Amino acid sequence: MKQVLLVRYAEIHLKGLNRPYFERMLVDRMRDALLPLRARIEREQGRVFVYDLPEESIAEAAAKICGVFGVHSVSPALCVEKNWDSIRTAAISLVAPDADKPTTFKCFAKRSDKRFPMTSEQICRELGHVLLDAYETLSVDVHHPALKVTVEVRQQSAFVFTKEMLGVGGMPVGTNGKAMLLISGGIDSPVAGYMIAKRGVALSAVHFYSYPYTSERARDKVVELTKIVARYAGEIDLYLVPFTEIQLAIYDRCPSSETTVLMRRLMMKIAERIANQCGAQALVTGEAIGQVASQTMDSLACTDDAVSLPVFRPLIGFDKEEIVERAQKIGTFETSILPFEDCCTVFVPQHPVTRPKVEQLRQSEALVDFEPMIESAIAATECMKISQFVLD
Ligand code: ATP
Ligand code: MG
Repeated sequence: MKQVLLVRYAEIHLKGLNRPYFERMLVDRMRDALLPLRARIEREQGRVFVYDLPEESIAEAAAKICGVFGVHSVSPALCVEKNWDSIRTAAISLVAPDADKPTTFKCFAKRSDKRFPMTSEQICRELGHVLLDAYETLSVDVHHPALKVTVEVRQQSAFVFTKEMLGVGGMPVGTNGKAMLLISGGIDSPVAGYMIAKRGVALSAVHFYSYPYTSERARDKVVELTKIVARYAGEIDLYLVPFTEIQLAIYDRCPSSETTVLMRRLMMKIAERIANQCGAQALVTGEAIGQVASQTMDSLACTDDAVSLPVFRPLIGFDKEEIVERAQKIGTFETSILPFEDCCTVFVPQHPVTRPKVEQLRQSEALVDFEPMIESAIAATECMKISQFVLD
């Protein structure tokens, strides 16, 4: 009798001929999540099994696997030989902790090995009797059982379990290409990165800083946020771009009401160039319609005009409150609210335009020769490899 994890996957079953590829990617991501544990992870007929976990690590490993994108649910299970005696014994021992008080239960069985001599119904019926005999506290409730005792008879072994923990869903990171996240130190962009990664997209990230107007601590905060996102999204290359020269040029030489949108356009241009260099196919921001002046429909159109890569804004229709809730859930909120200034906040105009026009902004942008500044900012960009393992 071995303790294992039985893992069901989310949308992967939709993928037809690509399915083995998606399954392999899922197994790789699960292996990453379980490091440094040396678990054996195997695929078998629409499920993934994790073997060889030390008993004291089972709960922690199950929680980690639940956080892997692509996982629908996880059941800690007992893996036994495919005979009735072993199945019966496993069910009795598994139910013991729940049977210390009056509890209702129902048995479920699935038999993918049709050579097994009992049908699914027989397994359920017999197991019901066995458990009723073993524990006086148990009674059957077929409609709303408190405890679901499930047996799966598969090709190699049988599995018995009573718990199902819900996973995060989504698709394994890496199965849907790579995108470049524009990450600030705020609440929104880390959540945006999480949501895109959840759809199977690997991430790189770019952050613009403006020494001496922003401090080293503001930059450290972004590194910290990227580490948290990397727990879910896997390794992230974080590009740190010095932005002071460009920001000062905008501030000094362009109309003050347009500075934020112009700054956003220049950030997008630089992000796009780095994205092209590192094979990212889209840009991702944490913008939502109407949240601030630079996020009105007109402003967003002006931002998009600066680049030709697609720009994904997964939070576009979210209220701030909903974003905060998600930030709390994924663990970025506490870091995001640390009070270090962001380069946008340092240079906010007093009366920003809310209805900028693309043509007008292009003209304002043409007042300055930004090209050499863009080139030198990219040349001075530093790349840090951020992985979840740096965190602990
Ligand atoms: P956030 O909470 O993500 O900072 P916000 O509501 O504060 O968002 P803005 O500061 O206007 O909004 O930024 C909008 C988006 O622009 C951010 O979500 C982020 O994707 C990008 N962005 C802003 N500042 C930076 C920066 N310094 N470096 C990289 N990207 C940035
Ligand atoms: Mg911000």
